[in-house]
Amino acid sequence: MMDVQRIRKQFPILSRTVHGGRPLIYLDSAASMQKPIAVIEATREYYQHVHANVHRGVHALSQQATDAFEAARKQVQHFLNAPSERQIIWTSGATDAINLIAQSWGRAHIDAGDVLLVTRMDHHANLVPWQMLAAEKRAELSVVEVTDQGELDAADFERKLQNPKVKLVAFNHVSNTLGTINDVGRWVKAAQNIGAISVVDGAQGVPHQRVDLQALDPDFYVFSGHKAYGPTGIGVLYGKTELLESMPPWRGGGEMIADVNLDQGTTYAELPFKFEAGTPPIAQAVGLGVALKWMTDIGLDAISAHEEMLGAHARKLLRDIPGIRFVGEAQDVTGVVSFVVDGVHSYDLGTLLDGMGIAVRTGQHCTQPLLDHWGLRGTVRASFAAYNTLSEADALAAGVHRAVNMLK
Ligand code: PMP
Repeated sequence: MMDVQRIRKQFPILSRTVHGGRPLIYLDSAASMQKPIAVIEATREYYQHVHANVHRGVHALSQQATDAFEAARKQVQHFLNAPSERQIIWTSGATDAINLIAQSWGRAHIDAGDVLLVTRMDHHANLVPWQMLAAEKRAELSVVEVTDQGELDAADFERKLQNPKVKLVAFNHVSNTLGTINDVGRWVKAAQNIGAISVVDGAQGVPHQRVDLQALDPDFYVFSGHKAYGPTGIGVLYGKTELLESMPPWRGGGEMIADVNLDQGTTYAELPFKFEAGTPPIAQAVGLGVALKWMTDIGLDAISAHEEMLGAHARKLLRDIPGIRFVGEAQDVTGVVSFVVDGVHSYDLGTLLDGMGIAVRTGQHCTQPLLDHWGLRGTVRASFAAYNTLSEADALAAGVHRAVNMLK
């Protein structure tokens, strides 16, 4: 069992109040996670005592900043169980990482008539870059459907994988709207069997699941720092070495070059720097390294068990509300609870909950094609993290009861 009160004490923001003195009940961690003091302090400490630009200077600060920055990269490698730190590319987030794959690997390898296989469950970040690539290359986007429970339709997935023109298979580890945990290993292997590249969006995987990239074996895996107790403005692209080496750089500039010659052209740096043009997000990388260490110290299995327990508890209490419908009732689910209530607009419900100090998210959660499956324009989504308590789940259910009574 996790000592949640001890964890909460490490998140200063959780003791603030909103709307004239109401205790904050923060249930929007799937959108962005709050930060433990260790991450806040590490970032402050970095700026206060260490900061200089990395990889360029001979002076002491530049070397210390470079050491801290590269130690964070090693921390990510270790956290993901990736074979080498050369495979860990800093990006500004999951969205940026997927765009890098689409613009570099995609533009080099996708031709007219090829098929990009995505899923209805994906976040716009793992759909729109593929749509843009398909439009540019006159390739085709094929979409794996979901079941009414909000799981990937395995039969549909298998069927669509039979198309010999499928060159890339993109899907998420965990759905941000439904909380569904996908069987990454199974679909990576299925993609490998037909010679397609797999792209796994781990934005909701890394914060809530143990991730072992050598076991799961995807070609690419991405995530965002701010959803994993880390700073904003930093994310990670992991790729298989031979793929990354074969890919052209995406952005040009300083740091990513070996030799710049205006007459003879430019040669590029080795991995991972080939993909890191310009001054990188140094303090953010340092903060992310600390965030991942913080999660490891708490224990990934303990975090996921705690969140799943809170989600199940909230579902049990909410189920009594007349007209409630859960959106996503997968077998394997994280601490994400999405729902609608007949005759009640999700925005109105979210606004009333906010007035009670309960922060939830309403709307499409950047998954419009998914909500279209149920003919919905939005849901209310509560998402739990390591710092949430059973009494907060109770407060959510009581708040929804009250708000629905007011609105009906
Ligand atoms: N994928 C998923 C599953 C997400 O939940 C999110 C963020 N909501 C993203 C991708 C995009 O992450 P970011 O905005 O940090 O790039």
